[in-house]
Amino acid sequence: TRRQLLAGNWKMNKTVAEARAFAEAIGRQADAFAGEADFAVCPPFTALHVLRVTLPARVALGAQNVYFEPKGAFTGEVSAEMLAEAGVRYVIVGHSERRHLFGETDALVGKKVEAVLGAGMTPILCVGEDLRERQLGHTERVVERQTKAALAGVDAGRAGEVVIAYEPVWAIGSGQTPAPEDAQRVVAHIRRVVEQEKGKEAAGRVRILYGGSVTADNIAGFTAQPDIDGALVGGASLQPDGFVRMAKAI
Ligand code: 13P
Repeated sequence: TRRQLLAGNWKMNKTVAEARAFAEAIGRQADAFAGEADFAVCPPFTALHVLRVTLPARVALGAQNVYFEPKGAFTGEVSAEMLAEAGVRYVIVGHSERRHLFGETDALVGKKVEAVLGAGMTPILCVGEDLRERQLGHTERVVERQTKAALAGVDAGRAGEVVIAYEPVWAIGSGQTPAPEDAQRVVAHIRRVVEQEKGKEAAGRVRILYGGSVTADNIAGFTAQPDIDGALVGGASLQPDGFVRMAKAI
């Protein structure tokens, strides 16, 4: 009974004009978003406003990053409260590109998760092993460590609100994916970790997405798995037609 979530992560793509064109294009096919699922688009900060006023009503606004402090001398950063006021509902936290290119640690990711919940939004916490960790057979222990650290400061009563995205680093932007059954096994393990740490109720409620080279052609194989509750999509979410096809497929 968990609702599926389709979230597009645009990464560092689209100008304001391009974002508006995307929103208008999917708005012409808004019946794709009428079903029993949730939808979100996560643009760069500069395109949040235009999407807020142009996205179809059923497609929520997301952000790709946040800083955990509420305000102050943190040049270049944006707080959770600022995002919430801008109409943001979901915030991606701990994406592998943030971890690897910008040095985000498990501890920092945990503080960001708390800040997002504190501002009344939903964190989309990204976890996943890199190729070397996979080859060493460390996938389970890596996602376990990342999940525990990110949820350490979250009350058991609110942990079920968190969305987790299992994104194997080697699958991101590579065109390679695990078999849906393999992704299911890792996602089921993440759910067991949530149960150990935060209890049965939180584990039953928490939505866990798959991400990494998802397309309109392969999404249904992932979302059909019992523990996979949607998808976090990069490249394939940039085209209006692709986003609409994925919305219809979940
Ligand atoms: P791709 O869908 O482009 O592989 O990116 C996945 C991702 O990183 C989503 O956050």
